[in-house]
Amino acid sequence: MSLDDLWFDPSKCLIDGEWIAPASGKTLPLVNPSDGTQIGEIARGGQADIDAAVEAARRAYDSTWSRVPAAERGRILAKLGRLVEAKVDALGRLEALDVGKPLKQARADAVALARYCEFYGGAADKLMGDSIPYLDGYTVYTLREPHGVTAHIVPWNYPMQIIGRSVGAALAAGNCCVLKPAEDACLTALAFADMAKEAGLPDGVLNVVPGLGSEAGAALSEHDGIDHISFTGSVATGSMIQASAARHVKPVTLELGGKSPQLVFDDANLDTALPFLVNAGIQNAGQTCSASSRILVQRAVYDEVVARMAERYGQLQVGQAMSDLDLGPLISAKQKGLVEGFIGQGADLETAARGVLNDAPEGGNYVLPTLFAGVKPAHALARDEVFGPVQVIIPFDDEAEAISIANGTDYGLVASIWSENGARQMRAAKAIRAGQVFINNYGAGGGVELPFGGIGKSGHGREKGFEALYGFTTLKTVAALHG
Ligand code: NAD
Repeated sequence: MSLDDLWFDPSKCLIDGEWIAPASGKTLPLVNPSDGTQIGEIARGGQADIDAAVEAARRAYDSTWSRVPAAERGRILAKLGRLVEAKVDALGRLEALDVGKPLKQARADAVALARYCEFYGGAADKLMGDSIPYLDGYTVYTLREPHGVTAHIVPWNYPMQIIGRSVGAALAAGNCCVLKPAEDACLTALAFADMAKEAGLPDGVLNVVPGLGSEAGAALSEHDGIDHISFTGSVATGSMIQASAARHVKPVTLELGGKSPQLVFDDANLDTALPFLVNAGIQNAGQTCSASSRILVQRAVYDEVVARMAERYGQLQVGQAMSDLDLGPLISAKQKGLVEGFIGQGADLETAARGVLNDAPEGGNYVLPTLFAGVKPAHALARDEVFGPVQVIIPFDDEAEAISIANGTDYGLVASIWSENGARQMRAAKAIRAGQVFINNYGAGGGVELPFGGIGKSGHGREKGFEALYGFTTLKTVAALHG
């Protein structure tokens, strides 16, 4: 795939239904992470473009979208889902080129995007308020109303999935959106917005302004004309965005990182667990907020789990995205440097195993997946988010110790419990501090229907599932005294 196959111009923003060059005329290089070559340019949007996008969204909200019946909003989203589905292959190739994701994983993201459109298309006209029993002579009910204009700041690791869950839910709930994709990954965001036009989304309802976080991102999160911010990305940027939301008294949903554990008890079915233990750490080369980077193992099965995970690690193949191996490159040279720095911090640890390079061109951002064993819970690699293909195995003696280690980081996004003991499953699921707990499986944020989000430094608010629709609406209580 090359950029010649593109059906839109990535050096432009999509504002009010028009492809427009950024007001500054500036662009940013578009780099292929698989070989480090520049393959094109993307728009470097700034304050003026964000102003235009927010104004377009407000106009569309006031004049059109707020009057479109919920069922019709749903139909448009469902049609958009079908258009995405018909282009899964092209979208997958585009994502693989842009972010270095192996083709199969990139296609799975496109399938998930289609499914988000289908799910939220179906949900749009099922978002209802309540009637509330109150005093004699009153009728009281609640209305779930859209915020108005919502801002969506999206990272580079799962652009299609994050756009699906955030923009999909916001549109279904009746909002108009301004989307700022990551500077390292904006092609599928632009492709999606172009398809939304084809699906019949009125002009201005979805606007996309690519650009740097410090320019377009900051201009959007500081903008007085937006009513809600949905952010996915790093803790540092999330905390800045929350501060800016506080200054403007705007609601904000933050989906930040994690250090998600899998707890393997001595009665676990290891044959079932093993593929999940490894895949949850190396999927998308570990660049997943809900990656499972800590494997906690009860001592009776510890040696067996280490040996079996190490065996699998030894087989993991790393290479360019289009070769569709187990892992592609990391997103950027900067991310590669960060992850290698973390791996360097494990010099004092037992390296259980690493993967192998295969078809990895010079200049690509390749890092071999690395498994450390015998790690103490206090070690930096057991506490800090690496955001790369690195997992640590930590032994534990009993359930109480496992829970204490699982809850021992600043994060709380996802966890899983591997055990055949039903009472233990229930106790541990209650005791673990996380937004999602899986029993005898692990979903790295998986499941369009499942509410997702964190506690602690993993963020707050919930996206995905029906729950997201509550976040993208505000509740109005109407109390009528009629005697
Ligand atoms: P980031 O948080 O800086 O970027 C995420 C998004 O926020 C991008 O669209 C970016 O342009 C935008 N942004 C950046 N600065 C901004 C600002 N001042 N105001 C408004 N928007 C801004 O993440 P990054 O620099 O791309 O990656 C750094 C680290 O973040 C990674 O190493 C990883 O640990 C973490 N990360 C987490 C996730 C996640 O899903 N939780 C995703 C990507 C990165």
